[in-house]
Amino acid sequence: MEKPFLLLLLLSLLVEHGDEWTINGEKTLITNAPVADFFIVLCQTESTDKPRKSQSLFIVDKKTEGLTVTKLSNKMGIRCVTTGHISFKDVKVSDKNLVGEMNNGFSHSLDFFAVSRIAIAAQAVGTAQGALEIALEYAQTRESSGQPIVRFQQIGAKLAQIATEIEAARLLTYKAAWMIDQGKIDSMLTSMAKLYASRVAVRATDAAVQIFGGYGYMGDYKVERAYRDAKVTEIYEGTSEIQRLAILKQLIKTYPKS
Ligand SMILES: Cc1cc2nc3c(=O)[nH]c(=O)nc-3n(C[C@H](O)[C@H](O)[C@H](O)COP(=O)(O)OP(=O)(O)OC[C@H]3O[C@@H](n4cnc5c(N)ncnc54)[C@H](O)[C@@H]3O)c2cc1C
Repeated sequence: MEKPFLLLLLLSLLVEHGDEWTINGEKTLITNAPVADFFIVLCQTESTDKPRKSQSLFIVDKKTEGLTVTKLSNKMGIRCVTTGHISFKDVKVSDKNLVGEMNNGFSHSLDFFAVSRIAIAAQAVGTAQGALEIALEYAQTRESSGQPIVRFQQIGAKLAQIATEIEAARLLTYKAAWMIDQGKIDSMLTSMAKLYASRVAVRATDAAVQIFGGYGYMGDYKVERAYRDAKVTEIYEGTSEIQRLAILKQLIKTYPKS
C-alpha cells in the first residue's frame, strides 16, 4: 500500500490572495520529491521590505493542478534517496492549507531546522563511524612490508584521530538531542553539532579511503560510497557556512558588546 509521504520544501514564491492563494515558481534539489504525496511550501505571502516576516507555510497535495515534479539523477552520493525538482504553475491552495501562523512561516522553518539538523549530525556520525570500523578492520588485515598496516604509525594515528573526532561529534549531537528532550531547543548547539559532525564525516571517510589505498578508490568497497555520502551533510539542511553564521548570531546575542 502506498503511504502518504510528507517532506519539507523551502522556497520563496510570491503568491496572490484572491479567493485563494496562487503559487508560482520553482524549487530544485528536493529530497524525496518524486515519491512524496504532499509538500510543505514556504511562500512569500506579502510583498514587504522584511521578507522573512511575511512568509507562510502551505501544505500542497502533489495531485494539485499545475504542480510538476521532475526526478533528478547523477547525485554524487546518497543515491539510496531520490531527489527532484518541483515546478508550480498557477497552483491554487486555500487558507485551509496554511500550516502554522500566517506570515510566521520562516520562523516555523527555523524551529524545524533546529531539530532536523540534529538528524543530519547523527547521519554524519553514523557515516563516519561506519567508515572507521571498515578502515580499522582493513588496517588490521592488510599487510605491507610484512606487517599489518595498522602498525605503521601514520595509519594508526589516522585511526586514533578520527575515532576521537567521531566521539566528540557524537557527544555534541547527543547533547543537542538531549536538549530537545528537555524541551529546550538550543539552535546554536544544533548548528554546532551539524557543523562539526559533518566535517568529521568528510575527514573520517577521507581517512578511510586513504587507508584502503588504491582499493579505496574503487566502487567495490564501501569506503568509496561513504566518502561520497559524507559530503552532502556539509551542504543540505543549511551549508556549513550558514551554520557558522547561525552560531555567530547566537554568540553575539549571548555575549553582547558591554
Ligand atoms: C541532495 C540534496 C538534497 C536536498 N534536499 C532539499 C530539500 O529537501 N529541501 C530543500 O529546501 N532544499 C534541499 N536541498 C537544497 C540545499 O538545502 C541547498 O543546496 C543548500 O542549502 C545550499 O543552497 P544553494 O544550493 O542555493 O547554494 P548557494 O546558496 O548558492 O551557496 C553557494 C555557496 O555560497 C555559500 N553561501 C551562500 N550564502 C552565504 C552567506 N550568506 N554567507 C556565507 N556563505 C554563503 C554557501 O554556503 C555555498 O558554499 C538539497 C540539496 C541537496 C544537494
